[in-house]
Amino acid sequence: MDPTPPTLLIVEDAAEIRMLLSAGLTKAGYRTLSATQGAEGVDLFVQEKPDLILMDVSMPVMDGFEACRRIRQTESGKNIPLLMLTGSDDLHSIQQAFDSGATDFITKPINLPLLQQRIRYALRDAQREKELHQAKSLQDSASSLAGLAFWEYDPASQKLSWSGKAQQTLHWLESLPDNLETTLQMVHPDERHRLQSAFMTAMETGQQFSVEVRLLWQQKEYQLKILGQLNQPGHLLTGAVQDLTALRRLESQASYLSHHDVLTGLPNRNLFICSLADQLQAKQSFQALTLVLVLEIQRLHHIMDVFGVDATDELINRVASAFKACFKSTEGQVARLETHRFAAWITLEAQNETTLIRYLEERLMPLNRCWLLEGKEVLLNFSVGLSYAPTQGDQATQLLRYAQRALQTSKSTRHTLTVSPYHPDQDTNLQQRLTLESELRRAVETQAFSLAYQPQYNLATGRIVGVEALVRWQHPSEGFVSPATFIPILEDMGLIQTLGQWILQEACRQQFAWKQTGLRLRMGINLSPAQFEQGNLYEQILDAQQQAHASPEDIKLEITESLAMKDPDESIHLLHKLREAGFKIAIDDFGIGFSSLEYLLRFPLDSLKIDRAFVQNITQGRSDRAIVLALTSLCQGLGLSTIAEGVENLRQSDYLDALGVTELQGYLISKPLAADDLPAFVTVFEQRGIDNANPFPG
Ligand code: C2E
Ligand code: MG
Ligand code: MG
Repeated sequence: MDPTPPTLLIVEDAAEIRMLLSAGLTKAGYRTLSATQGAEGVDLFVQEKPDLILMDVSMPVMDGFEACRRIRQTESGKNIPLLMLTGSDDLHSIQQAFDSGATDFITKPINLPLLQQRIRYALRDAQREKELHQAKSLQDSASSLAGLAFWEYDPASQKLSWSGKAQQTLHWLESLPDNLETTLQMVHPDERHRLQSAFMTAMETGQQFSVEVRLLWQQKEYQLKILGQLNQPGHLLTGAVQDLTALRRLESQASYLSHHDVLTGLPNRNLFICSLADQLQAKQSFQALTLVLVLEIQRLHHIMDVFGVDATDELINRVASAFKACFKSTEGQVARLETHRFAAWITLEAQNETTLIRYLEERLMPLNRCWLLEGKEVLLNFSVGLSYAPTQGDQATQLLRYAQRALQTSKSTRHTLTVSPYHPDQDTNLQQRLTLESELRRAVETQAFSLAYQPQYNLATGRIVGVEALVRWQHPSEGFVSPATFIPILEDMGLIQTLGQWILQEACRQQFAWKQTGLRLRMGINLSPAQFEQGNLYEQILDAQQQAHASPEDIKLEITESLAMKDPDESIHLLHKLREAGFKIAIDDFGIGFSSLEYLLRFPLDSLKIDRAFVQNITQGRSDRAIVLALTSLCQGLGLSTIAEGVENLRQSDYLDALGVTELQGYLISKPLAADDLPAFVTVFEQRGIDNANPFPG
């Protein structure tokens, strides 16, 4: 039995009947409440919300009919079972009882067992009614939530009728079609036949159907699911229509979002891997390669620090478009993997790796330029990792992983855009790199670096006029490691500032120490672009120079083109300040990377160092000679001196002399030397002259 027994409200003015009912029904397991007249009964009903009411007809103050009407007017009283207790054969009262809203009646004198029966039935009916009502409202809300409308089709009359809520569900339809033919006309022509045959089959075989169709209505397309079933007794087809338009739109939006990058609209990693996998699966000709590239914007976080998130987002968007524009859409796909990383796969005819790299660097050239950010020009450094199928693998994720690993190697260069291919020993390289990082960290902490000095020779005077300080690190087991390898790693690790400061101090100290002995050599000091990012570089340089008592005129700071173009306005400002303080400025490695004569004109410079690449072929290549000649003439016009780097033999030196170069630096003069060896070298070299050069093979 139900743990809480149903509550019955007895409204009866005759005490003996009231008590009889109360006692009898309590004994039968009900909980009873009693009222002595109509008004009291209504009050008790409102307070106690009983499950059933037994109501006498004639009572003082308020009779049973009036009480019944009042109760029916309340919200909870609408469906409560209400039994009227009437006199036998009092037809008028019975009629009136029903008119006032009674559910049933029972005549006096009361037959208790019969009354119990009636009560049980009334309660059960009420319960069913309640459940039905709940189910109905649940169905209503479910169908409106699910966009459900119900229909019925009579094959005999060919009439289509709809449930009350159907118009609400299919609200965009002006009126609901009342026959099958009109409905079919509205269905997309491609799907009309499918729906029609679903109807036919259902009518012939009694089979259920469920078809999804597009409905065209006033130039708009709606997505509907139509379910139907034969209702045997009436031979009617009944079913439901579900409006899936919004759902499908949401689904496609969700699917778009799960496959695309919100900022750039480019495919994301998931979609990229899928499309690459598809591409790799499709049988390719033996001649074709699928290249996977990962492009990284280096030091994007710095740009974010300086320009903020919005400007960076805008920049990322522009890089995305530019990267995408490097390839034709038919060639492959471009995607964004992470904040600072993009990827692309393209197909290409098989060729050797060197040609591939050259080809890609050329294709990606449009990225290698200045980007205008809030009115400022910014030069971005890109690194690109490359892997290719089928040579290196045939799995999408594997190739992407390889290209990402190759990126690690690509990072350690100073050019503004380099493509580095994956090599199977990359894993070892990565491991080596991690070890190298921790060793470098220790080296910085323990100041395990030294400086070597490479002399610079003035062609006009025949004298050694300066040196370039080159940092040296003696690796505990590997021996000499090139700064070209470890400087970019220190830059990445954010440790270059610490080392850079030590180099400044040490070079200035050495310059002054030589000067004390009567050897006056201009000191060339390399500055890493990362040192410019620290904000107090000016103070650091000035401190180093002042503490060493060196004079600024004897210090030549070597900057690189890429630095110069990172944030030109700021760099120009800083360089002006340094020059006003008396320091000399040289632009290093000129001619490789992103060369712009415009910058040359805008920057406060004293010298230009012509990169080794031009010097190497000066005796053979006419174009290199032409470039060097153009540079020296321009520099003469601007009052700048020129220093040729990497001069290794006399023939090169002769050409350079003829082309108007001011100074030479290279193995022909000397390899970088230890500080202690410098004074003796200078003496001997100047005695012998350049024609008998290289007295101290370093
Ligand atoms: P760089 O500033 O262009 O320095 C010239 C490089 O060319 C030096 O390599 C030097 O040893 C090498 N070299 C000089 N003459 C010849 C030659 O005749 N033939 C050949 N093949 N090479 C020659 P190193 O010392 O390995 O330095 C490489 C780069 O590392 C430097 O290029 C510079 O960018 C960077 N670096 C070196 N020392 C420092 C430093 O103290 N601070 C910073 N920030 N970078 C440094
Ligand atoms: Mg240099
Ligand atoms: Mg150089």
